[in-house]
Amino acid sequence: MKKDNIFINIIKKKIKVDILYQDELVTAFYDLNPKAPVHVLIVPNILIPTVNHVTTNDEIILGRLFVVAAKIAKKKNIHSSGYRLIVNCNHHAGQEIYHLHMHLLGGKPLGPLL
Ligand code: 5GP
Repeated sequence: MKKDNIFINIIKKKIKVDILYQDELVTAFYDLNPKAPVHVLIVPNILIPTVNHVTTNDEIILGRLFVVAAKIAKKKNIHSSGYRLIVNCNHHAGQEIYHLHMHLLGGKPLGPLL
């Protein structure tokens, strides 16, 4: 498993992107290839490669992902219309970046999940 990844470089601001939110636990920024009018990625600041690597020590970080998702949904005014939160794990789910992340998608009807 690679220790370095694109998200770590974004979090550490080695790569310049529009950071929507950052605190001591998580960082949020726009997805490079948006699948909806609002497509934001919310990621832990530490490397947790997949959901399979999550431990009880990560509970506060994982809770923060939801808190920040709700905050950004409100800021983007999609909180009432609705939105979808997705976390992919491993290749059957199509995980591309092995740094756990939550997708926040909204701004249009998203249709059925599958
Ligand atoms: P996954 O399939 O791993 O759940 O999602 C990875 C997401 O990261 C994809 O939606 C992809 O568009 C996005 N992504 C990949 N590389 C970059 C990048 O360099 N910058 C940003 N902002 N998003 C990226």
